[in-house]
Amino acid sequence: MPSSRPCSARDVGRYSRLDGPVQFLKGVGPKRADALVGLGIATARDMLYHVPRRYDDASTVTPIGKADVGMDVNIVGTVRSKGVIPTRAGLRIFQAVLQDDSGLVTVAWPGQPWLDRKLREGDTLLASGPVKFFHGRQLQPREFTVIGRQGSGSDAAAGTVFVTYPASEEVPQWVIRGIFERNLDALLSWADEDEYLTEEARAKLGLIPLSEALRRLHRPTEPSEAEEGRARLAFDELFFLQLVQARARREALESRPGIPHQRTNARVRPLHEGLPFSLTDAQARVLRDISADMVSDRRMSRLLQGDVGSGKTLVALFAMLIATEGGYQAALMAPTEILAEQHARRVRELVEPLGVEVALLTGSLAAADRREALERVASGRANLVVGTHALIQETVSFHRLGLVVVDEQHRFGVRQRMALLERNDAVPDVLVMSATPIPRSMAMALYGDLDLSVLDEMPPGRKPVVTSLRPPEKRDQVYRFVEDEIARGRQAYIVYPLVAESEKVDLLAASEEHERLRTRVFPERRLGLIHGQLSPADKDQVMRSFLAGDIDILVATTVIEVGIDVGNASVMVIEHAERFGLSQLHQLRGRVGRGSAESHCILVADPGDEALERLKIFRDTADGFEVARADLRIRGEGDLFGSKQHGRDPSLRFADLLTDERIIEVAQREARALIETDPDLKRPEHERVREILIDRYGERLEMFGVG
Ligand code: ADP
Ligand code: MG
Repeated sequence: MPSSRPCSARDVGRYSRLDGPVQFLKGVGPKRADALVGLGIATARDMLYHVPRRYDDASTVTPIGKADVGMDVNIVGTVRSKGVIPTRAGLRIFQAVLQDDSGLVTVAWPGQPWLDRKLREGDTLLASGPVKFFHGRQLQPREFTVIGRQGSGSDAAAGTVFVTYPASEEVPQWVIRGIFERNLDALLSWADEDEYLTEEARAKLGLIPLSEALRRLHRPTEPSEAEEGRARLAFDELFFLQLVQARARREALESRPGIPHQRTNARVRPLHEGLPFSLTDAQARVLRDISADMVSDRRMSRLLQGDVGSGKTLVALFAMLIATEGGYQAALMAPTEILAEQHARRVRELVEPLGVEVALLTGSLAAADRREALERVASGRANLVVGTHALIQETVSFHRLGLVVVDEQHRFGVRQRMALLERNDAVPDVLVMSATPIPRSMAMALYGDLDLSVLDEMPPGRKPVVTSLRPPEKRDQVYRFVEDEIARGRQAYIVYPLVAESEKVDLLAASEEHERLRTRVFPERRLGLIHGQLSPADKDQVMRSFLAGDIDILVATTVIEVGIDVGNASVMVIEHAERFGLSQLHQLRGRVGRGSAESHCILVADPGDEALERLKIFRDTADGFEVARADLRIRGEGDLFGSKQHGRDPSLRFADLLTDERIIEVAQREARALIETDPDLKRPEHERVREILIDRYGERLEMFGVG
């Protein structure tokens, strides 16, 4: 964020000294300013928000006198002498003697004689590594940084916490520390102008002042102080993100009145009573949320999250019936034709006995069928409409559309979602279903403009998919297992990460493997191949054959990731499993275990691969939300965010979407309350909030009337 904002503040009339070029700070000339750009630092504010990546104190730093042979330590010491030592084998070793109050130690860098030019006597180093025995104690650093250099203004020994900044070749650690030594106090006082929370508000929210937060990040007296500083900055990030979303939410909810649906229970009750099972507590709870939204005259804008098989579709069906009870139509959009057909088939089975008419609208309908379906939708004869993107084409007009359910939201752009709604005069309620579970805190951060319901409970009696890991040498056994399952009348998937063999990456490609499996491994069986380069019609054709049982083994790439249920498929083999993200693996695993028999997911991966740890976590975790958490922990947030196209800002530097759940909740609550009382942030007391918001999100704030 800081690196992308240099001038925008002034454009709207706000001027802070923090927006001035970093070059005007003490000890930063034109050359250093140029070099700082490489670290994303252009303004004084960028500098101030360039916070340490690591903190060391007495709890992590060992006094040199106590660094014994065999230990792995962090030490902080000053270079007393140094030099390059040639060995007989021709290897040149750079050595330095480091000293702190407790003693001296030799530090050695074999093969790095050039360090002699980099390090000076008097430099203070933070070094980490094992202490070995070699003519006395010798530390061989895995990493080290120069945290202090005499005359640089960086007094490394000050304080009891050693901070380490992100640095570069051009701008080493000690330079950055020197800049802060000389400028931090001024920067902090300028930061006071950025404070947008009153003392009262801070007290209520339990937050420290902004400049104090930044002080604690740069100059903590103990590492826990830095954490308190981070929490405040995390709040700021999340609060402004939530403000944008709260404003979008208000737009969606209140710009036009919603539909106060009339519940009669005439259809909901019979469906409920006719089910061979009862709803889970989670389903009942979510349904109450949805029903309350629908009967209110406020428009519903809700995200329904749940693991594969948690019963989202059934919940959506109840919601659709509520719409029809009051005389409205409901639409269900799926990402693919075959999924739409599957939905239509299931929905019909359940609701046609109740006198509810279902129309299916997909792109591949014959002209006459399409005309007929369109007519039923337009006249209102069709109560429920199930379809694909075709539903949002202009030729479709609804009689009285009251609810739109969007399945698998990841496959739809927000714009498409909206296109469907904006064309209609009445504003239907919207329920978005996502089958990619993400932690609640993350969903709140990403989809703050939607209300959130989570199905956090699976229907009882579901057998978990037995997941196992196999090395490539055991592939023949895996094939034998697949063969046995097919002999019992079951079907199997074998999934590969790539379609065509690439020269660089030696991966088994689906198309080539399909040929080998078909001719040599399973010559008696019927094999199908599906991958991303097939046309949609061809993909559909293959899936249909598999669904019909005309294919025993479907060789596939991840195009089957989201989608179709083939209840009879009981084995999912995933080749090169280490190439997949955990959430992706979980989606794949969700394709089996839909029927009543025990199902298996077999991951074939190279042992010894570092990914093995990851795969073991996956093997031992059945819960999709847990898998998502692990995935997030391992891969970081970047991938899961992957949603720039949704216009959501992925640049959260301080917030941790896994652990900041409470902060996210508070930020969302506060942001929504603020937008509720002052939607355009026009009141004088909100001026600073408004300025900062424009500063951060300027490009998409037309909604605040400033773009
Ligand atoms: P999702 O859409 O979340 O993947 P579905 O709604 O397709 O899940 O439900 C998966 C299966 O579980 C369906 O066959 C559905 O009939 C069944 N099901 C849904 N709710 C329950 C429940 N409360 N008890 C038992 N089975 C259920
Ligand atoms: Mg409503």
